[in-house]
Amino acid sequence: MSALELSDYRRLVIKVGSSLLIGADDAVNRGWLEGLAEDIARLQHAGHEVLIVSSGAIAIGSSVLGINRRRSRLEDLQAAAAAGQVQLVHAWQEALGRHDIAAAQVLLTPEDTENRRRFLNARGTLAKLLENRVVPVINENDTVATEEIRYGDNDRLAARVAQLVMADGLVLLSDVDGLYTADPSKDANAEHIAEVRRIGEDILAVAGETRSDIGSGGMATKVQAARIATHAGCSTIIASGKVDHPLAVLASGGTCTVFRAEGTPAAARKQWLAGVLDVRGELRLDEGAVQALQAGKSLLPVGMAEVVGAFRRGDVVTLVDGSGRELGRGLAEYSDEEARQLAGCQSEHIEQRLGYRGSSVMVHRDDLVLFDND
Ligand code: GLU
Repeated sequence: MSALELSDYRRLVIKVGSSLLIGADDAVNRGWLEGLAEDIARLQHAGHEVLIVSSGAIAIGSSVLGINRRRSRLEDLQAAAAAGQVQLVHAWQEALGRHDIAAAQVLLTPEDTENRRRFLNARGTLAKLLENRVVPVINENDTVATEEIRYGDNDRLAARVAQLVMADGLVLLSDVDGLYTADPSKDANAEHIAEVRRIGEDILAVAGETRSDIGSGGMATKVQAARIATHAGCSTIIASGKVDHPLAVLASGGTCTVFRAEGTPAAARKQWLAGVLDVRGELRLDEGAVQALQAGKSLLPVGMAEVVGAFRRGDVVTLVDGSGRELGRGLAEYSDEEARQLAGCQSEHIEQRLGYRGSSVMVHRDDLVLFDND
C-alpha cells in the first residue's frame, strides 16, 4: 500500500483492538495512543473524515472491578464495560484534544445499524459530528447488549459503522499485519497476501485457520467484517498496530492486506434500495421536486403533492411524478401520517407543523435511487 493510496479514502473508519490500546497492567497505553492521535490529526488536517471504533472498555473496567474478564459472567463484563468506557473515552478525548480535535462518544447496539428507523437516527448523528469536524469514538453499548443481541466483536461493529456512514475505507488495526496463506506462527511457508479482490471460499478458509489478537476478534472475524464492508463499497485494510504511529507507517507503505471494495458506497446503497421488496407507500411529487431529484438533490417536504399508503420512518417508498410514472424509491424520513401533514411545507416550518423538530428532508439523497425511465 502506497502513501498515495491511504490518502485516496475520503471517509475512514479506524478500528483499534484492545490488545493495542491496553497494556499488560490493564491501563491505557498512552504513549501509543498519542502517536495514533497524531496520525489521525494529520489525516483530518489533510481533509479526511475519521471515525474511530475503539475496544478496551471491558479490559480497563475489569481492573476497576477487580474481576478476571476471561472467567466472568456477562453481567460482570457489562458492569466492567460501564466502568471502563468512561476511562477509555477520556483517554481518547485527551489524546485528540492535544491536536485541538474534539471527540464524541457514540455507543451502538446492532439495532442501531440494522433497524432502518434507528439507522437513520445513528447516521444523522454521525453525519453532524463529521460535519463539525468532531471525531466519533464508537464502541458497542456493552452495558445493554446481551448475548443474543450483540455485535460480539468490534470488527463487525466497525464494518457496520462503515456501511452506515458510507465510508470508503476501513482500517482494522490489530496485532497482525494482514492475511497469510497459512498461520505464520505454525507454518514457515506461510505467505502474506497483499491484496484480495474477492472474498470467496478460499479466503474464508485461510482466515479460519489463522488466529490473531488477544481480543475477541480473530482473523476470521476480520475477514467477515471485510466482507460486509467491501459489499458496502468500502475497501478494508488489515494492518498491524504494534508500531508507533501505525497509520503513518501504513501510509508510507507498511505491510497490510487490502480487500478491495466492490464498487462505491453510493452504488452499493442504491443497489440495496433497488432490491428491497417491501415497499410500503408512494409519494407523488411536483415538477420542481422531480427536477431537484434529477439534479442529485434530496426530496424536501415542499415537493410532495400527495402521500399514499401506510409507512413508518425508515420504510421504503416509491417516488412518482404527476402522471404516476415511477421515478425511483427511497427511505422515508417521516411516517405517512407526518408526511401528509408536511406535504407542500417549507422545511423551516416543519417544527411548527408537527410540533417537534425532525429531519429537514423527506428522503435524503444518499437513500434515494432513481430508475432509468427512458
Ligand atoms: N466492546 C468491547 C470492549 O470495549 C470490545 C469488543 C472487541 O474487542 O471486539 O471492551
